[in-house]
Amino acid sequence: MKNVLYMVIPCFNEEEILSDTINVLDKKMNNLIKEKKIDKNSKVVFVNDGSRDKTWEIISKISKKNSLFSGISLSRNKGHQNALVAGLLSCKDYADMIISMDADLQDDVNAIDKMVDEYLKGSEIVYACRSKRKTDTFFKRFTAESFYKLMSKMGVDIIYNHADFRLTSKRVLESFSKYNEVNLFLRGMFPLIGYKSSIVFYERGERCKGESKYPLSKMLSLAWDGITSFSTKPIKIILFLGIIQSIISFISLIIFIILDINNYHTLGIGSIISLIIFLSGIQLTSIGIVGEYIGKTYFETKKRPRYHIDINLLEKNNG
Ligand code: UDP
Ligand code: MG
Repeated sequence: MKNVLYMVIPCFNEEEILSDTINVLDKKMNNLIKEKKIDKNSKVVFVNDGSRDKTWEIISKISKKNSLFSGISLSRNKGHQNALVAGLLSCKDYADMIISMDADLQDDVNAIDKMVDEYLKGSEIVYACRSKRKTDTFFKRFTAESFYKLMSKMGVDIIYNHADFRLTSKRVLESFSKYNEVNLFLRGMFPLIGYKSSIVFYERGERCKGESKYPLSKMLSLAWDGITSFSTKPIKIILFLGIIQSIISFISLIIFIILDINNYHTLGIGSIISLIIFLSGIQLTSIGIVGEYIGKTYFETKKRPRYHIDINLLEKNNG
């Protein structure tokens, strides 16, 4: 095998855009094959993540018509990160390099040439990062950039402005397959693996058809997963808060005793009640944060499978 490229594209209800994605990738892959940058056995593999529309019909139709395309269908919707892992691990035995990319063409396909070039120069992981966020709304840009900053403050090794548009070598995926965690945050996991890596920049476009499958609630939960799966800093912050609180309460106790001895009227009942509410708020939040870590541990110990593959056209084509 030499320079066989597999593209992994997770799809959840993408019927509106999928035929455009197929056309764009058909051209791009054929150009790369013509330029002899990638092998002619390279493929585009769509991962149907339990779509409820015609996504799988489109995928199975194109894979019958054009051998460049293939697909995997999961037993139900498992979310973007699980769908990606299903695709990556299913492709790793057939390919030398694998690129993961979104189905909505927001990731610029022209970056693929640069990523393959970096691979050919010896990089085993190539991170595609957004150079600008012109097309994002102010809110999306602000939340996304704050997220990357917060992650690095929490001590998580994460590539700035990189999501899941990345090239990995077969060897990297072999190493990745040894990570069995169920709380997935892929953009934090690949930097942990190591090997020679490089970065290419691209301008991220707007989603031209269909709507985002990542509403604010899912984005926040991914961010929270990222922090709690990679860092125990929130627990350290609680410990720090607890120590500060104890010191302050000890000092104030001494002050109140002194004031009392000297017959001064000190705090009234209102201020005591609000202080109690404030402190119990901090305590409940702290228990909640610790509980999140326990919950994560609970799911990790269960070792449930991350996904089930219902139909694997890749096996049929290759086997
Ligand atoms: N996706 C998926 N499963 C899900 C949600 C999303 O496979 O449960 C796919 C989706 O089809 C797309 C990619 O993940 O290819 C990124 O989703 P989207 O473009 O909606 O996210 P955004 O770009 O808005 O953050
Ligand atoms: Mg998108």
